[in-house]
Amino acid sequence: MRKGENSSMKRDYYEVLNVDRNATLDEIKRAYRQLALKYHPDRNKSPDAEEKFKEISEAYAVLSDPEKRRAYDAYGHAGIDSRYTQEDIFRDVDFESIFRDFGFGDSIFDIFFGRGRRRADYVKGADIQYNLEITLREAAFGAEKEIVVPRRAKCVECNGTGAASESALIKCKTCKGAGQVQNIRVSGNTQFIQIITCPDCNGTGVFIKERCKKCKGTGVTVLETKIKVNVPKGVDEGYSLVIRGKGEQSERGGPPGDLYVVINIKRDPVFERIGDDIICEVQVPYTTAVLGGTILVPTLDDKKIELNIPPRTQSGTVFRIKAKGMPRFKGGGFGDELVKVNIKIPERINREAEELLLKLREMGL
Ligand SMILES: [Zn+2]
Ligand SMILES: [Zn+2]
Repeated sequence: MRKGENSSMKRDYYEVLNVDRNATLDEIKRAYRQLALKYHPDRNKSPDAEEKFKEISEAYAVLSDPEKRRAYDAYGHAGIDSRYTQEDIFRDVDFESIFRDFGFGDSIFDIFFGRGRRRADYVKGADIQYNLEITLREAAFGAEKEIVVPRRAKCVECNGTGAASESALIKCKTCKGAGQVQNIRVSGNTQFIQIITCPDCNGTGVFIKERCKKCKGTGVTVLETKIKVNVPKGVDEGYSLVIRGKGEQSERGGPPGDLYVVINIKRDPVFERIGDDIICEVQVPYTTAVLGGTILVPTLDDKKIELNIPPRTQSGTVFRIKAKGMPRFKGGGFGDELVKVNIKIPERINREAEELLLKLREMGL
């Protein structure tokens, strides 16, 4: 199992449901029913029951869906978290047929995303995207990186009011602090009373006499938050790691958004990556190319390895060294290292070498 920032805290779904990795859908359903009966918040009032219920329900949501299960089997939690939001995981899962006989009231959505709150009212904080640049070697071997993410948060100095002090907040005279006013319109004999947003205070109900110095009256500050990111082995360009709850705070009392760390791989001076394979070019003395021999070639782990050059190797020939490429992100194993050989022409030769070469030319070589 790959350990990621957020997945390191998450338990294996099979372990959560206490089923075999090759359990059938029926077995998974049965295991979930049993656990759900025990932990459903309508039955179990212990404080951690809800968390536990969510954990088993998430495991069931993933393992009961063939596509999600495949992604989980192949990539672990990272495979799920990078493709689906929490809501996506639970959407379209037929919990109702499981709970029908139990007589539970709340829907799964109500339990997980706020009791009594309808789906449409559920407002999560904004997600943040962060581009993380790593080296090809970090992509190959995995890395733990610390990133600094600017996140907007309610100003702690003024508690989000934007005022320097409580007395710096003045009630709007027009609306008496309500933020709304009545607008009376007369048309013929009919009087229309309309409630509109107060035009003077824009609906805030207050004026700020003296602004909070920290947030300059906006009520919002930017916090630079340090976050540890585990870059998984074999990760590819553009892959995004999801770190739950590390996005921006919700302005409407919902949970915070998520942080998407998008992987950018820097150009490597030696290797070019082609899928799981890597390719590099090396120079070979022409005598080695003609007569054969061994040369040393670079590898991702910086240990040079020997490559056998057979006699009469032509310039541009590509040799394949098995399993010296990138680790495969899916499943196990490694890609290959491709080595393209170019014939090296000496820049300087001495008198003796020149005479030998002249002889070779006479021989037509
Ligand atoms: Zn402030
Ligand atoms: Zn007003």
